[in-house]
Amino acid sequence: MSEVRVRFAPSPTGFFHIGSARTALFNWLYAKHTGGKFILRIEDTDKERNTEEALQVLLEGMRWLGLDWDEGPEAGGDYGPYFQSERQSIYDDYLKILKDKGRTYEKDGALWFRLEGERYTEYDEFHKAEVEKVKNAAVVIEDAIRGRVERAEERDFVIVRSNGEPVFHFVNVVDDIAMGITHVIRGEDHLSNTSKHVELFKALGAEVPVFAHIPLILKQSGPGKMSKRDEGALIEEYEQRSFIADAVRNYICLLGWSPKDDQEKMSIETIIERFDFAGVNKGNARFDETKLSALNAEYIRELAMDVFAEKASSILKAKGINLGSIEESYLLKVLELCQGKIKSMDTLFDYVHYFFQDGYDFDAKGMQRIQKGVDPKVLLGEIMSIFENEAEYSSETLESSIQAIAEANERKIFAYFPVIRMATSGLTGGPDLLPMLSVMGRERVLPRLQSFLEKL
Ligand code: GLU
Repeated sequence: MSEVRVRFAPSPTGFFHIGSARTALFNWLYAKHTGGKFILRIEDTDKERNTEEALQVLLEGMRWLGLDWDEGPEAGGDYGPYFQSERQSIYDDYLKILKDKGRTYEKDGALWFRLEGERYTEYDEFHKAEVEKVKNAAVVIEDAIRGRVERAEERDFVIVRSNGEPVFHFVNVVDDIAMGITHVIRGEDHLSNTSKHVELFKALGAEVPVFAHIPLILKQSGPGKMSKRDEGALIEEYEQRSFIADAVRNYICLLGWSPKDDQEKMSIETIIERFDFAGVNKGNARFDETKLSALNAEYIRELAMDVFAEKASSILKAKGINLGSIEESYLLKVLELCQGKIKSMDTLFDYVHYFFQDGYDFDAKGMQRIQKGVDPKVLLGEIMSIFENEAEYSSETLESSIQAIAEANERKIFAYFPVIRMATSGLTGGPDLLPMLSVMGRERVLPRLQSFLEKL
């Protein structure tokens, strides 16, 4: 069999929608799985919408997801140009083939494609006119995902508009022929176009590629497909929110595809090995933010410390923490405390900021709760001597000392924790308290407890 050549053929809109990303990803996976080529072709015939900026959003999104292309913009290749706006002479050549075969005619200034078949005339109630129809044999599409689909084109259709612009169906098919595309993997919204495309492939004397139409992605709840306004629809937002790209990519793989054993978290190598059309569902996929976030948290937990530290540092810096004045060993200890706890990178700053700066706010609700229980002044008073006398704030020694005081005062050790946490972080939750105090050390914890006591 000849080499697999698949393509992702977006029309840049200024957004990189998760549905487009999924189409790109499935093409990429199929190319990797089969050892074929993945081509990026820019369908930029709509001149107004196709700005350089819109293109960059797309390319950046592809790069972020790690979807490298073998041919296309920046990569080049033997089948270029890879922008439809630069391929007019190729379209002219193919148009000539159709003209020479008598498969085109002009009507109302536009150029029409003539279907083959038996013509008959019918009265069209809606348009109040006689219309010529073609009794055409149904086109049979053996879709690699949908199975057998039959559809008959009834009417001739326009391939070049009266303003001279070639129509999507025509350029799309010409490019697939000229670029030697063997498999057309795209969204199900294009299934209804496919009979037109098959007619064009045949008229141009080209082999019809394998079609594989991927089901839609429905929005999180309710009917309807995910639109760009739905939360979670745009790839660029995941990048801005510091999602782990591998996690997002893993999640998108699961939007319509699953391996036989329904495993979810998989390395990209495993997915490439297992990916095939048989695993793509016929039914629609539904976007599930909870599942994506859970996967993302799992990926965060598994990042190598140096990778996590690099991501974390850039987030903390962007939030105004002066990491230059902070010892690296301290930073690493803080990050170790929180790597397994945070659910997403965009919660990191709120989770750890007080490790690096004193001027934190005190959570108002938490303060109220503390003041409702045993007088926090009394509680802190009971344990202050521990913090004054200990040199090393190790978790173990702190625990046994506080435990001893707790017993002497007939309390549970946990009775002291909320007030200590509030004093040293301003928060009601965070990393495990004793390891946290141990990492912060005497130099931070003691003055914070003292000033909190004065504040009370
Ligand atoms: N430009 C079309 C789209 O973005 C491509 C359709 C296809 O893949 O054939 O939907």
